[in-house]
Amino acid sequence: MSELRKLNHLIGGEPVEPASGRYFESTNPATRHPLYEAARGDAADVERAMVSARQAFEDPRWRDLSQTKRGRLLRRLGDLIAENAEELARMETLDNGKLLREMRGQLAGLPEYYYYYAGLADKIQGDVIPASDRRVLNYTAREPLGVVGAITPWNSPLTLTTSKLAPALCAGNTVVVKPSEYTSATVVRLAELVVEAGFPPGAVNVVTGFGAEAGQALVDHRGIAKISFTGSTSTGSRIASATAGRFVGSTLELGGKSPNIVFEDANIPNAAMGVVAGIFAAAGQTCIAGSRVLAHRSVYDELLELVSARAERIRMGDPLDETTEIGPLAFEDQRDKVAGYVDLGRSEGARVLIGGRSSDGGLGGYFYEPTVLVDVHNDMRVVREEIFGPVLAVMPFDTEEEAVRLANDTEFGLAAGVWTSGLARAHRVATRLEAGTVWVNTYRAMSPMSPRQGFKSSGVGVEHGTETIKEYTRLKSVWINT
Ligand code: NAD
Repeated sequence: MSELRKLNHLIGGEPVEPASGRYFESTNPATRHPLYEAARGDAADVERAMVSARQAFEDPRWRDLSQTKRGRLLRRLGDLIAENAEELARMETLDNGKLLREMRGQLAGLPEYYYYYAGLADKIQGDVIPASDRRVLNYTAREPLGVVGAITPWNSPLTLTTSKLAPALCAGNTVVVKPSEYTSATVVRLAELVVEAGFPPGAVNVVTGFGAEAGQALVDHRGIAKISFTGSTSTGSRIASATAGRFVGSTLELGGKSPNIVFEDANIPNAAMGVVAGIFAAAGQTCIAGSRVLAHRSVYDELLELVSARAERIRMGDPLDETTEIGPLAFEDQRDKVAGYVDLGRSEGARVLIGGRSSDGGLGGYFYEPTVLVDVHNDMRVVREEIFGPVLAVMPFDTEEEAVRLANDTEFGLAAGVWTSGLARAHRVATRLEAGTVWVNTYRAMSPMSPRQGFKSSGVGVEHGTETIKEYTRLKSVWINT
């Protein structure tokens, strides 16, 4: 048998072997075939990456680079991603099982994030403040923070790393990324493209490895100016505690249990399509998955019938196949977690209307059938907890008041969908929902221009849009006595 490819850290623009000499295997979840061995990073590797990032931060080639030129580098990076889109899409499909079709769509939009922040780079500016008499000049400047630690999950490595990298670099920081241990490959490749784009070596470093080792070492490092994290609420909470005591800022994008509310005046076939896409895209492994549906009692049966009929026809299989509609879960434990939740739902009294079984997808992989649970209520754990799989819980409501109450009765507040033909109702309900993003008669729309913030346990801080620049800069007030 041929030896597996070794994937090393990328530090100072070069591949770097782990100080410990240890690697861990990464497999294709659709087939269970081994893909590569990634460097198992620890505190020694993080130290090396931090030194490299700090040197790059202080390097005049980066520190003194004009903001216009910083923008140009980001634009070049966007172009390189576009040029390498097919390679990146395939690589991520093999790593986490996401449909190649879906990945191609994602890659088509990814350069836009770099172009957007390229355009913002020369618009980061301060103010002149009329704070005193005219002999004193007082002005403010937005300065970069220093070295940012970016920690990302496995469900969308390229996109979620980009949400951090693009604004952090735009603002003049340097970065150490710790990607998920399940999906290291595309993040390392992205960092190679950063070097190719002409950023100074060390502007972006990647240390691969496990959360409890490399991730923890990055969070605990004294030189870190900020942690930008996307992942589960439990890990986010640990990171927030660890950083708060040292007065290190953090942006946290966490979990969700988002509702889709379908009113009696909605276009029901459209709502059904939105509900299906909302939960079953990426096999339910998205933070914004619309995993709860609240349907007005008068349209409950019709909606359920349309959703189940569509969900039953979803083609499960090889994510590389253009005709496949749902791929595997990203790894074995995740598949088992999903199966465990459906079993728990059964024991809590939920009825499995369709799905409810594991499968190998005909390929030996970690698949789970699209599943719809009914006879559920808000006290059940399957309704309260994030499953992160293709499992939908559907329940009826009688009044708008009840729909809003049920939707908000959750620790999460990431996103929500509202399906109605009433403009006044759309506005009224959107205002009352405790969610950072509300979609009306659509679901999943996203843009680098549009800010995203999780409410409640779904996060702290903003990603995307102009607001994000504030997350990666600090404000200095300078007084000059003339
Ligand atoms: P996770 O919290 O298990 O891991 C996320 C990252 O944190 C990984 O890189 C992991 O290695 C690292 N990590 C784990 N323990 C750590 C520690 N003690 N110190 C430092 N780093 C540590 O999450 P996951 O299972 O990889 O991802 C799924 C979760 O991500 C879901 O909850 C999902 O909702 C959430 N998510 C949120 C968004 C959003 O924008 N809000 C987007 C995508 C995913």
